Amino acid sequence: MQVALVGIGKIATDQHVPAINASADWELSATVSRHGSVEGVPAYDDFDAMLAERTDIRVVSLCLPPVPRFDYAARAIAAGRHVMLEKPPGATLSECHTLADMARDAGVALYATWHSRQADKVPAAKAWLRDKRLISLTITWRENVRQWHPGQDWVFEAGGLGVFDPGINALSILTEILPDPVHLTSAELQFPENRDTPIAATCRFHHPHGADVSMDLDWLEPGDPTWSIEAVTDQGRMRMENGGGHLIIDDMPDDSLPGLTGEYPRLYAQMAKLVETGAVDMDLAPMRHVADAFTLGRRVSVAPFEW
Ligand code: NAP
Repeated sequence: MQVALVGIGKIATDQHVPAINASADWELSATVSRHGSVEGVPAYDDFDAMLAERTDIRVVSLCLPPVPRFDYAARAIAAGRHVMLEKPPGATLSECHTLADMARDAGVALYATWHSRQADKVPAAKAWLRDKRLISLTITWRENVRQWHPGQDWVFEAGGLGVFDPGINALSILTEILPDPVHLTSAELQFPENRDTPIAATCRFHHPHGADVSMDLDWLEPGDPTWSIEAVTDQGRMRMENGGGHLIIDDMPDDSLPGLTGEYPRLYAQMAKLVETGAVDMDLAPMRHVADAFTLGRRVSVAPFEW
C-alpha cells in the first residue's frame, strides 16, 4: 500500500518513516511538508497538489500538530483517501466526531492512533487487571519538555495541550487497561503566565468501585523521565514503567509474558487492516479526560516558561 506522510517533523522522522520502511505492506510514496522531506521520496509542499497529482496514493498519514490536522484530514477524506491521525486525533472532540462522520459517509478508513496503547506490556497489564479489585492507581508522567519537545512552540499554544501532550499517552493506556471506566472529578493545571497551555497538572478520577485513581504530570522534571502507572489491587500490585514497555508484578519483572516490539509498526499493521474494510477506529476516551481537565481544572499561574 502506498502512503503519503504529511508533516515531516520529529515524530514522522523518528517513528513513521522507519516503521513504513520496515513493513512489507507499506511503501512511502510521497511526503507533504513545507520544510521537511525524506531522501529519495517525492516531496510536495502543497497538500492539494499531492492529492490531485497522486491519485495512485490511497492512504494519507498525518503527523502534524493537532490544530492544523482537521483541515488536512477533511481535505483528504473529501478526496477519497484513507486517513491515519497522529495522537491526539484533533484539537477538539467535536472536530474528531465530524471527521468520523465524514469518513463513514465517504466509505474510507479513519484511524485515530494511540501509539502508547501499542507499547509492549499493555496487553499483559490489561489481562492482569481483568479479574482483580482495584484499590488504587497512580499515573506519574514526568519529563523535561526542553529535552523531548525542543523549540516546539505549538505545545504551548492553544490546542497544543501542554503537558497533556505526553499525558494523553498515559490516559490512552489507562483507558485501555482498566476494566471499569473512570471519570475526572478534579484537576489543578499550572499555566506559565506567558503560555496558553499547562506545564504541570494533577488530576483525580472517580472509580465506580471506589478505587483511588490519580495522575501527576510534570514537564519540568530535571532528571530522567518517569512514565509509570502503578496499580494496587486486592491480589497484589503492578507497575508499568517506560510508558508501558516494562511491567513489574509484585516486584518481579514479568519477563515471561510475550514481549512484542514496536509501537509504530503495530499502528501501521492496524491501519492496513482498516483500509481493507474502510473502517473507522476513533476512540476518543483519552481525549475526553483531557477535555474534562480543561473544563473542570483549577487554573494556577506559575513562572513564565522560556526555552
Ligand atoms: P513537530 O515536529 O513540531 O511538527 C511536525 C510537522 O508538522 C512540522 O515539521 C511541520 O512541517 C508541520 N507543521 C507544524 N505546524 C504546522 C501548521 N500550522 N500547518 C501545517 N503544518 C504544520 O511535531 P511532532 O513532535 O512531530 O508532533 C506531531 C504530532 O505527533 C503531535 O500531535 C504529537 O503529539 C505527536 N507525537 C509526537 C511525538 C514526539 O516525540 N515528538 C511522539 C508521539 C506522537 P513543515 O513545517 O515542514 O510543514
